[in-house]
Amino acid sequence: MDNLKIAVVGAGVVGATTAVELQKLFRNANVHIIADKFDIQTTSDVAAGVFRPGTSFAGPNEDITRKWIIDSYNYWDDIKNTREASKAGVAEISGYIFSSTHPGIVRNHYIEKLVPVYRAATEDELSLCPGNWKYGSFFTTLLTSCSLYLPWAYANFRNAGGRTIQKEIGSLSSFGAEYDVVVNCTGLGAKYLCNDYKLVPIRGQVLKVEAPWLKTFFYGDYDTYIVPGFDSVTLGGCRQYDSYDCAINRYDGLAIKERCETLVPSLRGAKIITQRVGLRPHRDPVRVEKDVHNRVKIVHNYGHGGYGVTTAPGTARYACSLVRELLLGNSKL
Ligand SMILES: Cc1cc2nc3c(=O)[nH]c(=O)nc-3n(C[C@H](O)[C@H](O)[C@H](O)COP(=O)(O)OP(=O)(O)OC[C@H]3O[C@@H](n4cnc5c(N)ncnc54)[C@H](O)[C@@H]3O)c2cc1C
Repeated sequence: MDNLKIAVVGAGVVGATTAVELQKLFRNANVHIIADKFDIQTTSDVAAGVFRPGTSFAGPNEDITRKWIIDSYNYWDDIKNTREASKAGVAEISGYIFSSTHPGIVRNHYIEKLVPVYRAATEDELSLCPGNWKYGSFFTTLLTSCSLYLPWAYANFRNAGGRTIQKEIGSLSSFGAEYDVVVNCTGLGAKYLCNDYKLVPIRGQVLKVEAPWLKTFFYGDYDTYIVPGFDSVTLGGCRQYDSYDCAINRYDGLAIKERCETLVPSLRGAKIITQRVGLRPHRDPVRVEKDVHNRVKIVHNYGHGGYGVTTAPGTARYACSLVRELLLGNSKL
């Protein structure tokens, strides 16, 4: 497959990872990343980046979903075990999830057997944080900070001969015969490009604060989370279904701050560096599929909701295998 030209539309964690994986699979291909937003402007850059797929995360079936999650974990873990780990923004992290409402909240059937440690919290640990917690788990997992990972991935991509092009795409079929395959990693942008009504934004807001003494993550009820990252601690959060509001909401910010400070009182007085808003591209199931539109061969890879950092590598590998099927012409569409 010489002189192969592949376009990846989208430069978030899904597009960047898919582009890098395509270069590994098709060594001589010309791969281009085309996007209107890069780096800090993407939703990916807002994410805390904890490897923790929600139990509602779904691919087309249970087997494929589990494979995506395992492949993803291995991808991030491989980076974590190299000298590049801190440059790539990947690290191991441990912490607690507490709940007073339901024992199921502190379990996670996708990762309990995948991560190095996932166990019930002891009685002593349940009283680590104020709140009279009834249920709790302690686990060790991975963290990917996209503010480091995206520039690192783009640099690797360019070093391997890839090109990045800043441009807004009005229609996937507008590519005509320019590329052999177009991979659609546009996150919420796919709602308009594909008229996909299943794709819904789930709005999230976070605060980034200075609290270098915190090394452990904490999750509590009502979407409360505290996640230490490379250069700040992320405080969250909220999940507002079908909200397109990208503005910072003062009341959301105050509520998040209060919930987090109640969970971990040492956060009181921590300096707020910034507040960010992102629209999670939620779709059930996540769409990783082949398609042909006006003779343009397309592989879709979007709709990762609140779990795109976690699952980008697994879906990227799956998307690459669909690209290969399309190129070999043995696809059933
Ligand atoms: C507050 C918050 C916290 C989160 N925390 C976590 C977490 O801890 N762990 C986790 O796994 N996930 C988390 N997520 C979810 C994660 O951020 C998303 O699942 C992920 O960023 C989706 O990546 P993406 O590449 O699909 O989309 P995006 O990052 O949105 O990238 C989409 C790309 O497509 C491009 N694009 C779109 N339309 C067009 C067009 N028409 N023409 C050209 N380019 C286009 C954009 O410019 C952009 O480059 C969180 C999200 C939020 C909001």
